[in-house]
Amino acid sequence: MRMRGMAAVAALAVLLPASAATAAPDSAPGWWAQKVARQALAAGDGWAATGAGTTGGAAADATHVFVVHDRDELAAALAGAEPKIVYVAGTIDGLAGPDGPLTCADLADPGYTLESYLAAYDPAVWGRATDPSGPIEQARVRSVATQRARTELRVGPNTTVLGLSGATLRHLTLMIDTAPNVIVRNLAFEDAADCFPRWRPTDGAEGNWNSEYDLVSVRRSTNVWVDHNTFSDGDNPDSTQPVYFGRPWQVHDGALDITHTSDLVTVSANVFTHHDKTMLIGSSDTVGPDVGKLRVTLRHNVFDGVGQRAPRVRFGQVDVYNNTFRVREPYDYSVGLGIQSAVYLENNFFDLGDGIPADRVLKDWKGTAVTELGSWVRTGTGLGGPVSLLAAYNGAHDPDFGPDAGWTPELRAYKPAPAAVVPLLTLLSGAGRLLP
Ligand code: CA
Ligand code: CA
Repeated sequence: MRMRGMAAVAALAVLLPASAATAAPDSAPGWWAQKVARQALAAGDGWAATGAGTTGGAAADATHVFVVHDRDELAAALAGAEPKIVYVAGTIDGLAGPDGPLTCADLADPGYTLESYLAAYDPAVWGRATDPSGPIEQARVRSVATQRARTELRVGPNTTVLGLSGATLRHLTLMIDTAPNVIVRNLAFEDAADCFPRWRPTDGAEGNWNSEYDLVSVRRSTNVWVDHNTFSDGDNPDSTQPVYFGRPWQVHDGALDITHTSDLVTVSANVFTHHDKTMLIGSSDTVGPDVGKLRVTLRHNVFDGVGQRAPRVRFGQVDVYNNTFRVREPYDYSVGLGIQSAVYLENNFFDLGDGIPADRVLKDWKGTAVTELGSWVRTGTGLGGPVSLLAAYNGAHDPDFGPDAGWTPELRAYKPAPAAVVPLLTLLSGAGRLLP
């Protein structure tokens, strides 16, 4: 294992010439960044490599290369359909204002305060039979619209977004909607918190607070490559949120959600850390336009301490190979098998802590089968060994999943490594690895 890891580090060193390590000016892309920004997804590298292929802004002319430093520059640069490269410099905070940071109160409609919302829709007052409605709920909806206009940025087609060294997007959502051919690399995404969560007493047995914003949303889009980013709740983790009506005040939605007929997506070498609802692939059980879509490849990602949806899949043929899962409480499950899902799990590494048993890794969301090869499970401090998560699940739950998802992935640029060495390969994942 050690030799494999050193070989991987040595390979990276070969990729990074010594001159690239010299300090570049803060916001001027060096030659290496310029080279990375022009990279297309390699042939055969997951679902995004098929169809029209994924080149992002590789063909951008000189007038469509931008270095952005704040929210308004970023929003402007992302718009339009021409091939374009958007370099992100430093930390961009969606709630930064000219007179200091905006607060949730600054974004609220005059008819909304949290106190008034909690008073109006307390189950002791409103009951639990119907979701909130009326003037205060309407004011909340207006507040959401105000926040959305500021923090949700639409990405146009044919775009590469590349973070320069240390680049962070905070309190922002990249909305890739009806935008084919987009590449997102080397960014730290933090805390797309919703100021105005919606109380839904009818969601589950006890009701739930639901939020609007993902860190990155992919909707109605094809050929999207999300590579070498880090997704987290930043300094605003769920563990610090209050409880209202006996339920956690949930200000975060997905980290990277791929929904609404999106297709041909490759998610590679990202780190998802300390977040709950991590990756939703398909948002509705409706047997309709999503059928035959939602094809996604996940390789060399790290899911570190995430609660659920890593990923949760409906309809899609989803290839999940050579990923590292570090599982800790609070934990629901890792891979959710939803309606007509066809998930192919090969050579993934699972580090199960806090006494979490292997039968909790999979979860039934109306799925029927999964293909699983070569899983490696470590519990405690030992090396671990091969474990069938499918057998563990079927031994503890009914109905059983079948062992064949019905397809075999062909779009792979890498032969899957043995799962035992995957944690070494994924040391190179996340933001801050692509550029010096
Ligand atoms: Ca979402
Ligand atoms: Ca069973």
